[in-house]
Parts: sequence; C-alpha cells; structure tokens
Amino acid sequence: MAKHIFVTGGVVSSLGKGLTSASIGMLLEQRGLRVRMQKLDPYINVDPGTMSPYQHGEVYVLDDGSETDLDLGHYERFTHSPLTRDSNHTTGQIYLSVINKERRGAFLGKTVQVIPHITDEIKNVIQKLAEDDVDVVITEIGGTVGDIESQPFLEAIRQFALDVGKENCLYIHLTLVLYLKAADELKTKPTQHSVGQLREIGIQPDILICRTERSISLEDRQKIALFCNVPIKAVIEEKDKDFSIYEVPLSLVDNELDCLIVQKLELDAEALKLEQWRDLLHRLRNPVHELSIAVVGKYAKHRDAYKSIYEALDHAGIYHQSQIRIGRIESEEIEREGPERLLAGYDGILVPGGFGERGIEGKIDAIRFARERKIPFFGICLGMQCAVIEFARNVVGLPHADSTEFNKDTSHPIICLLDEQHAVTDKGGTMRLGAQPAHLDSSSQAYDYYNTEVIHERHRHRYEFNNAYRKQFEAHGMLFSGTSPDGELVEIIELPAHPWLVAVQFHPEFKSKPTAVHPLFAGFVGASLQRHQARGDQRIGLQNEI
Ligand code: GLN
Repeated sequence: MAKHIFVTGGVVSSLGKGLTSASIGMLLEQRGLRVRMQKLDPYINVDPGTMSPYQHGEVYVLDDGSETDLDLGHYERFTHSPLTRDSNHTTGQIYLSVINKERRGAFLGKTVQVIPHITDEIKNVIQKLAEDDVDVVITEIGGTVGDIESQPFLEAIRQFALDVGKENCLYIHLTLVLYLKAADELKTKPTQHSVGQLREIGIQPDILICRTERSISLEDRQKIALFCNVPIKAVIEEKDKDFSIYEVPLSLVDNELDCLIVQKLELDAEALKLEQWRDLLHRLRNPVHELSIAVVGKYAKHRDAYKSIYEALDHAGIYHQSQIRIGRIESEEIEREGPERLLAGYDGILVPGGFGERGIEGKIDAIRFARERKIPFFGICLGMQCAVIEFARNVVGLPHADSTEFNKDTSHPIICLLDEQHAVTDKGGTMRLGAQPAHLDSSSQAYDYYNTEVIHERHRHRYEFNNAYRKQFEAHGMLFSGTSPDGELVEIIELPAHPWLVAVQFHPEFKSKPTAVHPLFAGFVGASLQRHQARGDQRIGLQNEI
C-alpha cells in the first residue's frame, strides 16, 4: 500500500513548496522508492491555461496535453514520476467534476456540500495516484495555510489520514523563519502561528521545513519544536540557496530529511545514491567556459514567465560546463532602442513562445539581427513563427508578410490558423496540445542533434506555417527539417547557410532535465559558446543581464 506525504505552506507564498516537494521526490527515488507527485491548486480556474503569465508565470505542458502549474516542471526535472492530467487539480476542476455529477443525478437527491462531496472528490484524486506499483505519493497543497480557498483541501487531507491510517501519512509544513534586520534576530512567531492554524483544523505537522536566510540556532530550533509540538529532529533548516535550485536536495540531506521520512513512514528504502546529482552540481559550480544568451520576449522581466527556458539553458550550461550569463530583454525595448544596443554583446539569441501582437516587431527585429550578424538563434513556438515572418519580409521579398494572429487581413498570411482550430470557440484547453510526433530530414542539423528520425515533442499553439509558401521559402534557402508524419505541419525550420539558426513549433524546454539536457538546447548553447570563443573570450558589458 502506498504511503502519502502532504506538503503544505505557511506564513507567506513563494517559499518554494514546489521545489521542496520535487527535492523530496528526488531523494526518495534515489533511495530506490517509486514516487508519484501531484499538486492541488486552490484557485477557481479549471487549469492555468487561461491565465496571464503576470498572474501565474509559465504554463507547463505535459505529454498528454494538460496545461499545468509550473511546479510540475520542477517535479519532472527532479524526478522520474510520470505526470498526467491526474497530477494537477484545481478548486475549479474539483467543483466542475462534482457539479457535473450532480447534473447527472449521481447524488440521488442529496444536498451537495463542501463536506463530504467536495472533500470526497479531493480524496479520490489523491487516492487515484496510489496505484499498486507506487511506494509514496507526494501531494503538494498550493496556497498558504489560512487562505479561505485552501480550506477544503486541508480538510480533505486531514480526513485522508482517518481513512488510510495516520501511520501511512506524513504532514510536512514548509514555513518561514523570518530574519528581522533591526533586531538582528530570527523570529519564530510567524511559524508558531501558522502551525497553530494548521492544528486548529486538525492537522499536526510531523515535520517542519524552515526556510531561512540565516542558520537557525539550536535554541531557536528547540523553541520551534516546543511551541509547534514536534520533536527537535523534525525541525529541518532549509537555508536560502542563491547559487542554484539544484542544491536544495543536498541541503535537505545534510539535515537528514530523507532518513526522517523513511523512518516515520517505515519505508523499505535503499541507501541514498547521489553521485549523479553531486556530479552535476560540481559541473555547475566549476564552469570552465563562459558565454551569454539574450532571451527576447514579451514578459522577459517577469521571473517565472519563461521558467523552463531558463532551466533548459542552465542544463545546457551544465552539459557544456559553462556559465551562461542570461539577459532578459523585453521585445518592446528593442522596438524603442533597436537591436544593436541591446543585443550586440550576446553570443546567442532566443525568442520564446507567446501570444498576441504586443512586442512582435521587436522580436522580428531581434531575429533579423541574429540572422544577418550570424549570431546563433533559437526560436520556440511563437519564436519560430516570427522567424519565418522575418525571413518572408527580408529574404523572400514579401514585405507585408504576417501572421493572421496579429493581422487578420494580411496580404501574405505566412502563419495562419490550424485547420482544426476554425470551429473552436472556447479558450481553455482547446489549442493543439501535448506530445505529437514529427519526422526529421536526415540531412538536417536537427537530425544531427536528435540522432533519430522520429521525435515526440510537446505543443501548445493554434497557428501554423502556411504550406502555400513552402516552395518559395525553400528556393531562398530555408530547410523545413521537421514535419508532422503526414508532412502537413511544419515543426522545425533551419537555415543551413547560417552557423546556427533553428526554430521549432513545439516546446523543447519542457523535456530538458539537469541530468539530460535537451539536444537542441545543447546544440544552441554549443554554437553560442563557439561564437564566444571565436570572438576571443572578451567580457562585454551586457544590457539587462540578470
Ligand atoms: N500564438 C502562437 C500560436 O497560438 C504561438 C503559441 C506559443 O508560442 N505557445 O500558434
């Protein structure tokens, strides 16, 4: 029977519950256990697919096409836990399902209520992951204890221990131990209050993971243990890691969290294997090269909008043992100031995915700059669409070329709506989503990197390259190096005459791991490194470097 770990958060949001949960999953896997991971989000949207990146950061897409919370990206990067649409549920989705059942008459005349109907539905989605081949299910509860929205989830996980036995459940509470500068002291009171709130609703945490800027003294740990009713060894310090998120699991191991979990849940675990993880951290900490990449997007200044892109670049840095200086450039800034001043210092330029017209011309200018200056360029989804528009306007000789997403009446619709999208009216969950196969041209650069003819990559788009223009583009030197198996949808383009200009209709960033970089990210960063070295390793003052 699978055991359950519930991870809650207190005091403030953004404490890194997702990262901590992913790290716990990774540590248990490295002790030979089979883990499943899940996030329950308290908001009412059915999924984050309809939310703006300002609200929610990146929308993370899974193989099965579900649009999920970005914490699932951490789960996939840290663990091998298979993720599906069962791995992320929201209040909206839970209510929708209960309401649909009610409409079908499934409640046989009863009054439908939060307790037991909503809480039962929540318990069902948790139980669904506890299949026979699973040792531990880790369920992260989004939001902060005390929020009105998270109450039904907390109530459900309280009841859950009654259903399956307390000995099969472990409650881990992530909290903040605040450093007050004026007093030069760590403050434990917010943690006490947050645990107090949990206990009021009937949950006594078994383990407290304390996020902190400074080391927590033995005295403070004793105080937290006493007031929060946990043994002192269950007060785990998680000090801020400003170097890399991949350090988090090791710092938890230093505080013996894995041993504590194994002991408390009586898990039949092996000794911890951390060689691979230590090796990647060693490469990260000891770079032998340096290079710079500009990410040009509409939300470049927003920390989480292109989360998986920044992570995949880091993975490529680990792979090439290189420190990558990343510049986040808002494409509208390029419209105002031109590409030369903002981009000249960079060794590679990446344009990520996106929606809507704002900032498009800046992206197109950035791509022209990369193409003409022979700077390695990587276009992703909207980045690919902009790359073909740029090529159409400045090489093929179609100055008014555009996408119908931005200009419905363009005389040259190089990018147009996918056929299957014409009848679509709802916005949520209706794009071309998830893993789709593509065939690679064996003479292409893409093929060299993937080293295989058929690939499966994740998609999230409504528009496609307009095939009426393919011949004209080929005549001007563009290679359509990846297409859907029937040859109809363009998936990858490249310019063989350019040192490295590759653009893809899908999202390779979702399949990159620190232990297994995505081949195209490895290729792009490798080409950028070559350019850096050819320029003589000079350190150039970079605009907007982070
Ligand atoms: N807006 C474009 C489309 O819908 C690109 C989407 C994306 O970059 N994810 O096709």
